[in-house]
Amino acid sequence: MGMRPERRGSRDSDRGGGFRGGFQRDFGPREMHKATCSECGAECEVPFKPTEGKPVYCRDCYQKRKPRF
Ligand SMILES: [Zn+2]
Repeated sequence: MGMRPERRGSRDSDRGGGFRGGFQRDFGPREMHKATCSECGAECEVPFKPTEGKPVYCRDCYQKRKPRF
């Protein structure tokens, strides 16, 4: 809400530190686990181990439930 000017490194005093990578997280090929979507019942694979008792959602449902900003 506030319109605070961000004061971090002015552009010319901040030269030579181009360490801005970090785009590639650990999202490589991962072990996928079969699961059944709790929403639509479709079989899907999730990159994490489905926890018993916890709902698992396929990609579609997951995205529906968690809209991106
Ligand atoms: Zn689903």
